[in-house]
Amino acid sequence: MKVCVLGAGPAGLYLSILLKRADPAHEIEIFERNAPGATFGWGVVFSEETLGELRDADYATFLRITDTFARWDAIDIRYRGEVLRSRGHGFSAIARKKLLAILQERCRELGVVLRFETSIEDPAELPEADLVVASDGVNSVLRRSRDFGTRSTPQGCKYIWYGTDLVLDAFRFSFAETEHGLIQTHSYPFDEHTSTVIVECPEPTWRAAGLDRMSDEESIAFCEDLFARDLEGHSLLSNKSAWLSFPRIRNRRWSDGNVVLLGDSAHTAHFSIGSGTKLAMEDAVSLANAFVRHGHHDRAAIRAALVHYELERRPMVDRFQQAAADSAGYFERVRHHTGLPPRQFAVNLLTRSGRISHANLALRDPEFVRRADLDFAGEPDRLFAPPPFLTPLQLGKALIPNRLVVTGDPRGAGLVRTAPIAVSEDGRITPETQVGVASYPVDAVHEAGALAMACLTHAGRRGATRPARFGVDVPLPPDEAWPLLSASAVSYGPLSQVPKAADEADLKRIRDHFASAAAEAATAGFDLLELDFAQGRLLASFLSPLTNPAEDRLRFPLEVLSACREAWPEERPLVVRLTVTDWAPRGATIEDGVAYARAFAEAGASMIHVEAGQTVAETRPVYRRGFLTALSDRIRAEAAVPTLVGGHLTSTDEVNTVLAAGRADLCLLDVEA
Ligand SMILES: Cc1cc2nc3c(=O)[nH]c(=O)nc-3n(C[C@H](O)[C@H](O)[C@H](O)COP(=O)(O)OP(=O)(O)OC[C@H]3O[C@@H](n4cnc5c(N)ncnc54)[C@H](O)[C@@H]3O)c2cc1C
Repeated sequence: MKVCVLGAGPAGLYLSILLKRADPAHEIEIFERNAPGATFGWGVVFSEETLGELRDADYATFLRITDTFARWDAIDIRYRGEVLRSRGHGFSAIARKKLLAILQERCRELGVVLRFETSIEDPAELPEADLVVASDGVNSVLRRSRDFGTRSTPQGCKYIWYGTDLVLDAFRFSFAETEHGLIQTHSYPFDEHTSTVIVECPEPTWRAAGLDRMSDEESIAFCEDLFARDLEGHSLLSNKSAWLSFPRIRNRRWSDGNVVLLGDSAHTAHFSIGSGTKLAMEDAVSLANAFVRHGHHDRAAIRAALVHYELERRPMVDRFQQAAADSAGYFERVRHHTGLPPRQFAVNLLTRSGRISHANLALRDPEFVRRADLDFAGEPDRLFAPPPFLTPLQLGKALIPNRLVVTGDPRGAGLVRTAPIAVSEDGRITPETQVGVASYPVDAVHEAGALAMACLTHAGRRGATRPARFGVDVPLPPDEAWPLLSASAVSYGPLSQVPKAADEADLKRIRDHFASAAAEAATAGFDLLELDFAQGRLLASFLSPLTNPAEDRLRFPLEVLSACREAWPEERPLVVRLTVTDWAPRGATIEDGVAYARAFAEAGASMIHVEAGQTVAETRPVYRRGFLTALSDRIRAEAAVPTLVGGHLTSTDEVNTVLAAGRADLCLLDVEA
């Protein structure tokens, strides 16, 4: 097969090695704009898992790379004057220049033709080939010459990639407070002389600090001064370093005819999870294996290999891109976490991308987790603490015995939520929805050692439906349905009844119904009260611009909250179940959610139960495990209010991770009764 490769980065070089190894008859030519020893950036990190795949793909390259590795196992977090060290993480790093030199050398040994200092600006300049590989990086010329359905969006902070002649002994995250906001570094060693230092901050901080107007020298001087303690008298080094925004690249297709995207041209993963090189090299392994499997004797075989490669790699890449998005978002908003105690801040950072859990961390560094759990339990001087999920929570005057919330069997739980209880007949979701709290077995919950929370709702435009076992939001036949109310006359789904827009008399009646149900719940002995302002139900419909055109969308929900607060004993906690983002175009965003949560907390809500979506029927969010956790993290940090979160949390390890990191205070466990 005649193969033309554009770009001699890790992706293009490694694919060429693997193709040549599989079949020395392949004719492979690589075109690279840079000279052999020139490249951008400094060192790149690899994790232990990546190395296994490289070992199996080409042992000679693996040996040369791993021989040169700087290895360490610690992560240092420098925050508020403290240095917290977590061990057992198993990192390796190599200078990007060295990695490329090893790959180039191996290419030459195997007979790959390398054409350096050859910039291809028009793909027509490339020679005819059976396979054309676009491994020309983030700004791929080849990708731009065809329609791959590319989406490129800036992700995370403004960053600059420096080196330093200080040799670190750990991966280090350092946070510096400035009058313009938080600026942080990600640093790690990669050879016996040098370490990488990536400096980053959100764009507003970057502009306010004047970094957008500084010369290269001024920028280095600014960063050296800010991180002088970390640099211990050493300098920052530039390699044509410039302040950039990291582009998140996604493509609808990874190949077109005989042209295939590989590495960064196909997908990027934010540098804060250090996986771009790994993904690029794993792409190469997958594509080379696809040719071994499907052959390359004709166009159909080549197409089959390209399809195979994309099908195999896409799910893996999607997972890394999700983790990378979570990580980039974390660093962009990390200033909101500066209120966390140092060790909890560190746990939050280490678990930011969802790839490390509380249990993983305990395996890597038991001492770190023991201390974090002791801090979490508020008893730093004891020898051992219970895991976070078994730590009681004092909320107002209520002592919730542990952090697990369930709907159903109370055994083992700290808090039991009732199913939705309608405040009036016309507020029922289905004909089976309970109206009023009177018949709920509060005593049985108390006997099981848990507290009980009454969840009051008015279904609004999502009412008069068949029970969920017949399907979601299936309207009742007209002769069984009752008239619906909402903030506006907009139906929930295409088949749903059109509700009446509530008038002042309706609003007064609804407010009174909520208040009397709250008083009844208090008399019935409930310990906590939850008001349903979520998922398109009546009070949620007032909060969304999709269903309420009014300017002051908070007015009526706040009135209901105040009325309930008055009717509900002051010492008992009141929870607001809130849709914190509609996940729909022109709907309420998470920023609205933060503002709402803040307003409800000021008006007497003790906690926000975080929900998302279901404001309009046509949204299709991804309900992955823990899909609400990042939203809860934002509400808790930015609105400074305790949170309860669910979102398919199925194990105590997931719950421990959420709690230990300070992403929520209570977790709703999704388990079969
Ligand atoms: C700040 C930062 C830190 C990072 N840290 C890590 C890390 O720790 N670990 C990790 O795994 N990844 C890391 N990455 C990501 C990693 O650098 C990339 O994912 C990786 O380099 C992708 O390899 P590639 O071969 O696809 O593309 P590239 O490495 O970008 O290679 C593309 C090549 O194509 C050449 N080229 C481009 N256009 C043309 C043209 N028109 N003509 C000729 N040649 C051309 C370029 O000169 C380049 O040599 C980091 C990235 C950044 C920005």
